Amino acid sequence: MIMIFLGPPGSGKGTQAKSLAGQLGVPHISLGDLLRDEVKRGTEIGQQAKAHMAAGHLVPDELTIELAEKRISQSDCQKGFIFDGFPRSAAQADALDKMFAEKKLTLDRVVYFNVSEEETVKRLLLRAGIEGRADDNAAAIRTRFEVYERSTRPLIEHYSKMGKLLEIDAARSIEAIGRDLAEIGRN
Ligand code: AMP
Repeated sequence: MIMIFLGPPGSGKGTQAKSLAGQLGVPHISLGDLLRDEVKRGTEIGQQAKAHMAAGHLVPDELTIELAEKRISQSDCQKGFIFDGFPRSAAQADALDKMFAEKKLTLDRVVYFNVSEEETVKRLLLRAGIEGRADDNAAAIRTRFEVYERSTRPLIEHYSKMGKLLEIDAARSIEAIGRDLAEIGRN
């Protein structure tokens, strides 16, 4: 099962991707987590990504595309995987379409987490107090929303045209959304 979870920051897609991946026995691939790990290890990619991430901007496409391709080439991805936070731009989506075609992989579903900005800002500010992420401050949150609207939201149409898109109401509880996703994962 190959899935993409798409939605604004704070829509709960990371929490749900982790949980469903566990149920399906496939890796949960969070580009944000992969990038934070590169930053922590001080790699070349990490050094290039750090300032973009702290400001809430997208990391350059060539870096994220390279990270994503390397990750899905690993042996634990043979049964499928769930992408969380990738793709986030038209260039990334096009590169991913090509990657799938070259590797003869079929994208099963793209789940769009639909939730208002008002609700997600509340969640992000709450998370800021708990996790202390560098980009969970008011200025970076605002930028991440602008970036989402400009670069990532158009992907909804890309995947809708491909007939892959499933929309869920992500304003509901973690449990209610989790039940819907478990059902989607079974079909
Ligand atoms: P996330 O943990 O998904 O909220 O991502 C945290 C930050 O990592 C984002 O605000 C971006 O700076 C960067 N990032 C994550 N995924 C991508 C991506 N697909 N393309 C570019 N930058 C990304």
